[in-house]
Amino acid sequence: MQEKIVIVGAGVAGVNAATKLVDNGYPGELITIIDMGNDPYKRKPEEVMTGFLGAGGWSDGKLTYHTAIGGHMSKYCGEEKAMELFDEVITNFKRFHPKPEEVQCSNPEAEPDFIKPYFGLRLFPVWHVGTDYLHEIGKNWYRYLVDKEVKFLWNTKVEQIDFTDQLASYAHNHPESKGIKTIAYDRLIFGVGKSGINFGKQLAEKYDLPTEPKPVQIGVRFEAPQHHFQKLIDVSYDFKLYRKFEDEGVSLRSFCTNNNAAYVALEETYGDHSYNGHAKKDEAYRNDMTNFGILMEIQGIDNPFEWSRNVVKRLQKNGTGLYYSPTRTPSTTSEGETVTVTQVDDLTEFFDAMDGFAGYIMDFIRDMKRVFPTLGSDWGIYMPEVKYLSPEPLVDYNNLALADYSNVHFVGDALSARGITVSGAQGTYVAEYVLHTNKK
Ligand SMILES: Cc1cc2nc3c(=O)[nH]c(=O)nc-3n(C[C@H](O)[C@H](O)[C@H](O)COP(=O)(O)OP(=O)(O)OC[C@H]3O[C@@H](n4cnc5c(N)ncnc54)[C@H](O)[C@@H]3O)c2cc1C
Repeated sequence: MQEKIVIVGAGVAGVNAATKLVDNGYPGELITIIDMGNDPYKRKPEEVMTGFLGAGGWSDGKLTYHTAIGGHMSKYCGEEKAMELFDEVITNFKRFHPKPEEVQCSNPEAEPDFIKPYFGLRLFPVWHVGTDYLHEIGKNWYRYLVDKEVKFLWNTKVEQIDFTDQLASYAHNHPESKGIKTIAYDRLIFGVGKSGINFGKQLAEKYDLPTEPKPVQIGVRFEAPQHHFQKLIDVSYDFKLYRKFEDEGVSLRSFCTNNNAAYVALEETYGDHSYNGHAKKDEAYRNDMTNFGILMEIQGIDNPFEWSRNVVKRLQKNGTGLYYSPTRTPSTTSEGETVTVTQVDDLTEFFDAMDGFAGYIMDFIRDMKRVFPTLGSDWGIYMPEVKYLSPEPLVDYNNLALADYSNVHFVGDALSARGITVSGAQGTYVAEYVLHTNKK
């Protein structure tokens, strides 16, 4: 028997799952992908989180290649298999790239002395695609799946899923389209990413899904002219400075560094504003800025999800997040608009909101000023940057299926993946299982 597969979310995870299936002869007409965003031709620049390839399709396209970065793929399938799956995902991005030779790999091999003793540097390879090429990749990839007869429902939000009757209910966001429709599935791949985190939480509550606890991850998006950091960028494009306070259950790292044509991006989750960043490859967009997250992982907080949400809420003013700089003003987006944020004169709100943890971030910045001596007061921070690690549904490690619903697979950020390569790898991993099951 060949199963009817519904994939909720045309993000990195869902698209890689579908690709693995049709590449291996699975009939495309049995696969329906539903996404609340737009196809890659209609997707607008401001639609950062939704549409073909999801948040990954409008991101900076840094494809990390290490099992310690961006989630826990090796937890499910072991180191060797995880790396094999990462290879497949990176190959897909190159395969649909109009100029694959332009995808560059940065692979630092030693910690430079000048960052010691203040910081450690995580050493791992990362492939860099760039936001503008991602758009072209998206179009080529989409055409491939359509040619293989995979069905897509765009601008369509899945509102409910009945795991028992195997039905997904959805609504089109078109003026002429009324009411809720349903689609039956034999197997469901749930890859709603961060934009669907609320939906995942809703399902976890409705079905009382057992979960694995997660720590808090919160901080700021730091931005400064690139020349201050060039010495380190020459060693590692996406450098990850880190430090750990073992006894206090706190660790910090710089995260998702963007350079050359680097822009701060607004994220909207649960109606609140937080910040992230991306970079373009096209020289026309060069602004010679660098931005990265300074993210803090805090262990031992009861109900970390609610705690993070509360901090994010307290950092909202005039309906936006906050920006602080000793000397600068907020930057513009790649579309030339000022980043939507409220500038504040001091860090009182930040210290109040962070419940005693703001000092770790400010110490990190103080020490960066020591390591990068020209930095001085020439920087700004967008508050907050947050990774909502909602409790991860407990899945069967062999196929990422829910314990009580073996035909429902959670993938990508919906399973706390936190990155393109890991999300794609999870989609591919589930597809391998589906191919294996349908062979029997
Ligand atoms: C600005 C930005 C930059 C980033 N840069 C990087 C980077 O350089 N490197 C990296 O590794 N990671 C990066 N990330 C993170 C990365 O994009 C995500 O980890 C990855 O895309 C997750 O893949 P996913 O398939 O789980 O979800 P997504 O890619 O987010 O896709 C989820 C899809 O589900 C759809 N959806 C959600 N809810 C519903 C619903 N109810 N019904 C129908 N459809 C729904 C959405 O429309 C979306 O298209 C970045 C993220 C952002 C926001």
